[in-house]
Amino acid sequence: MSTETFAGGKVWFVGAGPGDPELITVKGRRLVESADAILYAGSLVSEAALRWAKAGCTIADSKDMTLEQIGEWLIREARRNPIVVRLQTGDPSLYGALIEMVRPLDEAGVEVGVVPGVSSAMASAAAAVESLTLPEVTQTVILTRVEGRTPMPEGESLRELARHRCTLCLFLSITLLREVRQTLLDAGWSDEAPVLVVHKASWPGEEKIVRGTLADIRERCKAERITSQAMIIVSPALGARQWPAIRRSKLYDAGFSHRFRHADKTA
Ligand code: SAH
Repeated sequence: MSTETFAGGKVWFVGAGPGDPELITVKGRRLVESADAILYAGSLVSEAALRWAKAGCTIADSKDMTLEQIGEWLIREARRNPIVVRLQTGDPSLYGALIEMVRPLDEAGVEVGVVPGVSSAMASAAAAVESLTLPEVTQTVILTRVEGRTPMPEGESLRELARHRCTLCLFLSITLLREVRQTLLDAGWSDEAPVLVVHKASWPGEEKIVRGTLADIRERCKAERITSQAMIIVSPALGARQWPAIRRSKLYDAGFSHRFRHADKTA
């Protein structure tokens, strides 16, 4: 390609999925395969990058880079390559510093695209064969975190969110299980409330699924030596697979009409 006619490439933020290289989307994989430069986020997504990148692709790990260096790298590569991929864990819109990375690209006039990914929240539910919503139990999922170095905005403390008694998926919080327990107790949950922790959800051979209650989940995770890369799910719907009876979803109810099926009036 002659440099005179090349107007600059596009930077694609691609969700690599939760760990299993097969959980990247078809579109994400196609972009990885055709990329001239790939910047990946640490060990979590290196496998997909290395597996599908074409020969001669420039590949770098961002784990020791600052945000400024990431921006510079992406801008530099986009100035000389048509397709540049920034591989992110899970979905790029969740706790992935997406906007912080996009703004310098906007300022530099570099085109940006985003390909969604399977979030670890979804992969964790899948690993444990759990549904995050259940008819007449909970119809709401909150994706949040416990306050750490990043302060929580007003109205979003776990205590306030937990009052909804819906499904809570807690990112970045596995070292804070003591706080999680106390906060949920303060918000009216019981110590018997079921809790699911999934470590390295979907990672072949490395995934760990730990089930417990608010009272004992911390000890159970300690016993399994889980201190990072884990999703905490607290939900009144957990374990429904084993309940003696559940309310059935209206969608499959014979007496319920929808766009694709008319109700059986006798049901
Ligand atoms: N964008 C990512 C989240 C990045 S924040 C996503 O959509 O999944 C990093 C946090 O995500 C970790 O602290 C952990 O809570 C969770 N996480 C990422 N990958 C995980 C995995 N494979 N299994 C369990 N939790 C994971």
